[in-house]
Amino acid sequence: MGHPLFPFLYLNHFSDLGLIEPLNRAVKAEGYTTPTPIQASAIPLAIRGIDILGVAQTGTGKTAAFTLPILQRLDASLKHLVPNTTRALILTPTRELAIQIGVSLDTYGKHLDHKHAVIFGGVGQAPQVSKMRRGVDTLVATPGRLLDLMNQGHIRLDQVEVFVLDEADRMLDMGFIHDVRKIVKKLPSRRQTLLFSATMPDAIVKFAEDILYDYERIEIKPAATTADRVEQRVMFVQRANKQQLLTDLFDDPLMDRAIVFTRTKHGANKVAKSLGQCGIEADAIHGNKSQSARQRALEGFRDGNVRVLVATDIASRGIDVDDVSHVVNFDIPNEPESYVHRIGRTARAGAEGMAYSFCDADEVDYLKEIEKIIRQKVPADIGHAFHDDRIALIHATPGKSGIKPKSRSGRGGGQGRGRSTSAAGGRSSSGSSNGRRRRR
Ligand code: AMP
Repeated sequence: MGHPLFPFLYLNHFSDLGLIEPLNRAVKAEGYTTPTPIQASAIPLAIRGIDILGVAQTGTGKTAAFTLPILQRLDASLKHLVPNTTRALILTPTRELAIQIGVSLDTYGKHLDHKHAVIFGGVGQAPQVSKMRRGVDTLVATPGRLLDLMNQGHIRLDQVEVFVLDEADRMLDMGFIHDVRKIVKKLPSRRQTLLFSATMPDAIVKFAEDILYDYERIEIKPAATTADRVEQRVMFVQRANKQQLLTDLFDDPLMDRAIVFTRTKHGANKVAKSLGQCGIEADAIHGNKSQSARQRALEGFRDGNVRVLVATDIASRGIDVDDVSHVVNFDIPNEPESYVHRIGRTARAGAEGMAYSFCDADEVDYLKEIEKIIRQKVPADIGHAFHDDRIALIHATPGKSGIKPKSRSGRGGGQGRGRSTSAAGGRSSSGSSNGRRRRR
């Protein structure tokens, strides 16, 4: 049986990767059985201390590919923490990614004695400063806030043993690369470096050559393979009409096991309630519900007693149900990667699925971002009762925007301009050794 998220690959078991038992146990508890291609390639190398250039998008399982080796390595050499320092540094471009990586460290490191901090801008610095006071094993940070706290003397990087640069191309797009360079200058030259990027524009190739030492390059096919297997439709509709449009969709008897995604917990409750009032069996699943209530909702959905599960992104991670006939994005996700995760719920185990996305005027820019990362236009369904041509026009007009999404940026363009490419999961050419640094 292939991997549930990546059915085109048949891979080994997690326990074959050389991870220590507490990590294997944590991974198992998450329901992961087979490593994803990036995990299968990167983890054995990373735990040997080798530098890696990983060409992979979010959605390929890359977070675990770098957090698991960090947890293992730091655990193997337990040391006293030095105040205001960290032993591993993970730089990531957005607050959302930083939080997500922090959650992964908690999840995978739950049987280890591992201390981490997550810092990003836009919030007060006091709790972050206090968290760093005694030192941490791993610091997850966005570049601006990190530099800021370094300049104020709250954080030093001289104890860093492992450095991860996540989403390097996005750092470049968002104009963070100068900050990243300044940060890299403060790192010890004797360290392990793991660099991940979805695309490889020349500037990233050059930067990678500068900061990696004797590295292995691993290239994973974009997650768009999921998007290719799902039939997708966007429906341009005003927010006020979304609920009625959703109810209408359920006139289709083929829509027998659907997941509806909303951005907020409150939204999930509201949508589930309104469907229930129209005689459509629905249940909501989100972080405010108790574990037992979530379990009940999931079981009802699995058994077919509940036709619709209304979920937020975070809650949807635990949904492991095959034969989901439809996914509906009641709200367009503001992280384009979430779109790929969401629609992937209806194409598990090689099945084909259908995904509808409701797009109002404020969400057009989110849709455009999604189309960039899946590298295709989502076809519009204009035959429904609530089609709004004005929204379709905003979408069709290049450069024209709905309401600008907050703190977002596009991804870099071209794919695979690096020196060598390989099939999914493969690894190729060893990088240059410029003799600047000695291997441990
Ligand atoms: P990432 O690319 O790190 O954002 O991961 C994408 C999603 O895949 C996350 O929801 C992970 O929890 C999930 N995931 C990561 N590795 C595996 C695995 N080996 N098996 C199943 N799910 C996984």
